[in-house]
Amino acid sequence: MKEFLFYLIFALSAITYFVGASQLGRLSRKSIIDRLYFMSAMLSAGWGLFTGLVLIQQDRNLAAVFRAIGMIHIFGLLICFTNMLIYWSDVRGKIKRWTAGFVWLGALLYPFVVQPGNVQFEMTVYGMSYRIVPGVWSVAYVVYCATAAVNMMIIIIYMLRKSIRKREKDIAYAMMLCVLIVGFGCALDALLQFIGLSAFPISTLGQFAAQIVLCRTYRFYNGTRVTLENMSKFVYYSVDEPVFVFDEEERLCIVNNGATIFLGLSAEECCKLQLNDIFVLERDVFRFRGSKNRVEARCWQKNNICSITIDKIYDDYMDIIGYIVIVHDVTERVRMLERLEREKKRADKANEAKSTFLANMSHEIRTPLNAIMGMNEMILRESEKPGIIEYANNIQNASKTLLVLINDILDFSKIESGMMEVVEREYSLKDMLNALKTECSLRAEEKGLDLSFVVPGDTPSTLLGDEVRVRQILLNILTNAIKYTMKGSVTLTVSHKKMTPDVVQFTFAVADTGIGIKEENIDRLFGKFDRINEEQVHAIEGTGLGLSIVDRLLKLMNGTVSVESVYGEGSTFTVCLPQKIAGSETIGSLQDNKKKNEKSRGNAPLFMALDAKILAVDDNKVNLTVIRGLLRKTKVQITCAASGRECLEYAAKEAYDIILLDHMMPGMDGIETLERLKNMPDNKSKDAAVIVLTANAMAGVREMYLEKGFDDYLSKPIDGTELEKLLVKYLPEKCIINNAE
Ligand code: ADP
Repeated sequence: MKEFLFYLIFALSAITYFVGASQLGRLSRKSIIDRLYFMSAMLSAGWGLFTGLVLIQQDRNLAAVFRAIGMIHIFGLLICFTNMLIYWSDVRGKIKRWTAGFVWLGALLYPFVVQPGNVQFEMTVYGMSYRIVPGVWSVAYVVYCATAAVNMMIIIIYMLRKSIRKREKDIAYAMMLCVLIVGFGCALDALLQFIGLSAFPISTLGQFAAQIVLCRTYRFYNGTRVTLENMSKFVYYSVDEPVFVFDEEERLCIVNNGATIFLGLSAEECCKLQLNDIFVLERDVFRFRGSKNRVEARCWQKNNICSITIDKIYDDYMDIIGYIVIVHDVTERVRMLERLEREKKRADKANEAKSTFLANMSHEIRTPLNAIMGMNEMILRESEKPGIIEYANNIQNASKTLLVLINDILDFSKIESGMMEVVEREYSLKDMLNALKTECSLRAEEKGLDLSFVVPGDTPSTLLGDEVRVRQILLNILTNAIKYTMKGSVTLTVSHKKMTPDVVQFTFAVADTGIGIKEENIDRLFGKFDRINEEQVHAIEGTGLGLSIVDRLLKLMNGTVSVESVYGEGSTFTVCLPQKIAGSETIGSLQDNKKKNEKSRGNAPLFMALDAKILAVDDNKVNLTVIRGLLRKTKVQITCAASGRECLEYAAKEAYDIILLDHMMPGMDGIETLERLKNMPDNKSKDAAVIVLTANAMAGVREMYLEKGFDDYLSKPIDGTELEKLLVKYLPEKCIINNAE
């Protein structure tokens, strides 16, 4: 009997210990309740163990020592139970303070309760036992245990009353059962002694029963917590994407709701399938290196396009136990991408069409304008009648305005479509400023304005940048200043600051004494087609595009433009622009315009060249007439060809010095003609410079023509002086008679 009882209690202790320890070990994150539960299991096991040890003792003293150690566990267990209840019930205020505080009184009571005089040991049939000797501490111990039990019952009642959820009530009832079982065991123990028998370890056996209830309660409670273990099931079923879990043999074992909806089958029906029954896939799709594989596949049933992720599942020894397959239906996305691609292509086509339209429009307008301006220039050159010259001057001004407008619209649409490119080349700032001064001083003079350029002599002159665009920006701002100033002056001040050894920040400030701009209008200045001060500027020609082009061009070149203005007094437009330095030359002094203007040629040509032979090729007869007319006074010998084919025939017969070649011609265009000219074995004009004369004047086309092999480029409408300058450049020196001489 003795041994049996001991082994029984010992076995129960061991089970309690292992159950508690394994529960705790399984958790990745431990909360207070986990620790309290673990401690209660350890204390329960300890209580049992030492009770067992008392039972098998022969020596009363040793039995007293084991009983004393065992009692530590009893007190500890009471503290643990009480705290678990406090935690679960979430009791607060006085009840919490009282119950939590009271239970710790056991620590004070313990040294007195375990005094040898409080119990009397005696050997019984079931082993060493004891009898409580009535006294103060024995009574105190009983009162303490009873009060602790009552406290726990109070918390349980509190819990039952306050809890709204069923699971909380379940926990409360389970804990009530625990308290009752332990209480019942202890009461029986006491009763035995009351009727004169020694203590039988009923309370010890009872607390094991309570521990079983506690273990179940704790597990139940754990099942209701939001933990990775508990939630994975919910996550699995709530994921909309189809999820399939295959075992090691690649048999489908688990499917989620998403998968059954995706396949339109029940879970049981799904589980009869293999992955290849669902998707068009290679046979060995599960054989891959690493732990994850992603494949694209079509679903047999619905023809959906899917992106499939396969993850291997491993056991603790890293052996594969299965595969998780998550399916992303990307049909919509793929279709949308295809749609977007189609839309993009359509938009690109539309954009291309727009550019082609603009280029064509430019070409179509320029061709008749070439005739108008060319013929008009001939009238200006050849007429002696003041009335006719005045009319022709008006035609010239209007045509120039139209030309500026066409150029602006072309530039603007090119910038807007992101096709405007900045082409960096070496250029001379000095030459550019001189040219600008010459160009603007004529207009300024006409209006009686004082135009001055203030440029420090040490300003770097050889720069690397887009000369055409820088010139365009400055010309635009200077022209505006002259346009919107009725009297006074226009001054361009240039200053510079070295940023790095080879980059200089230039500041070009154009100040005028013109009409000025109201402060509230300054923000609108750079908007497209926005003209301000309408009442004052409507008589002045303009489109409202110039400054927006300036602003956008500067942005392309990392520059800025700003305005300061006093309405009625004048404005200052400041352009800041970084440019690279390409040489050490400085500007020194700019040319004096007055002297230059005095040298004005009137109607005389730049040169004469009686022996020079020029071949002009254009399908438009009027254009050929214009070229002839513009060059009449230079006395050059002009042969006209009406097509590329004719051009080749003439070139085979005669050695020309220059070929002026139109681009857009029916049949063989200018570029093809040039190519054939170059590859023609019997070309007598091999050394001729070929200049493209074209109405295609979009920004950047010059570079395109030079790349194709033309020696130079001149846009239509042809400017007589520009044409003469080009001829001087390419004609052999020996046949030129300089007009100035
Ligand atoms: P446009 O001169 O062709 O009208 P811009 O874009 O060059 O177009 O200029 C926009 C507007 O800014 C002009 O219509 C004019 O009202 C105003 N503006 C530009 N420059 C000046 C200036 N120097 N003084 C006064 N107003 C100016």
